Amino acid sequence: MSAPMLEAVQLTKAYGAQVALAGLDLQVAAGEIVCLLGANGAGKTTTINLFLGFTPPTSGEARVNGRAVTEHPLETKRWLAYIPEQVALYRNFTGVENLAYFSELAGRRYAKRELLAWLSKAGLPDEAAQRHVATYSKGMRQKVGIAIAMAKEAKALLLDEPTSGLDPQAANEFSQLLTSLAAQGVAVLMTTHDLFQARQVATRIGIMRQGRLLTTLTSAELGQRDLEAVYLEQMQN
Ligand code: ATP
Repeated sequence: MSAPMLEAVQLTKAYGAQVALAGLDLQVAAGEIVCLLGANGAGKTTTINLFLGFTPPTSGEARVNGRAVTEHPLETKRWLAYIPEQVALYRNFTGVENLAYFSELAGRRYAKRELLAWLSKAGLPDEAAQRHVATYSKGMRQKVGIAIAMAKEAKALLLDEPTSGLDPQAANEFSQLLTSLAAQGVAVLMTTHDLFQARQVATRIGIMRQGRLLTTLTSAELGQRDLEAVYLEQMQN
């Protein structure tokens, strides 16, 4: 069997006496969408940051495509795309110019029509793609983030509360994009506080509290159980 695209093995991170993540074991295969839920401070962002190599683990390992992030920082970054709560773009560049710039940083050069095609796939029409990002809504900026991930042909996508502050329609469009990326074989790991969105897109949902993964639910189980009730029960135990 091939290695999972994203894997945490007893992944632990402490900041001094504060244990942000305590022995996380998690696997995300190609084509899966795993959503991490949990109260503020549960360790969700820490998990994403460890996969990105933004911070080293205290013990345990984050692996991307079978490679340890700490040992292969450049290789693992090449396979990853990252979408934070606010995708950081150059406001005085157009969407196309931003995509061209970030693609070049990732070692890929595209013709303008190819860039427009990626942006269109991410739900941004040509007219919008050729406007300055300063005129964009948050939903449009997040779509550029998806286009950057698509153009990079990332194997795994890490998202940290990507739809917070999006209106329901924009969040729905974003969810559809994630579903189509997963259908193309991308492994998706996303943190969110939006139970509705998690229920809508996830193949598996993990509930975290105080640095621990308390439970994971598959989409089949979620069909039968009320996610909100399970979530609240886990928060109270
Ligand atoms: P939220 O839902 O608020 O984004 P989270 O689940 O993403 O929360 P983390 O940001 O991973 O939680 O934080 C987990 C714990 O680690 C918290 O107690 C936080 O205060 C602590 N922490 C995170 N980053 C640092 C840091 N750089 N220095 C010290 N403590 C940190």
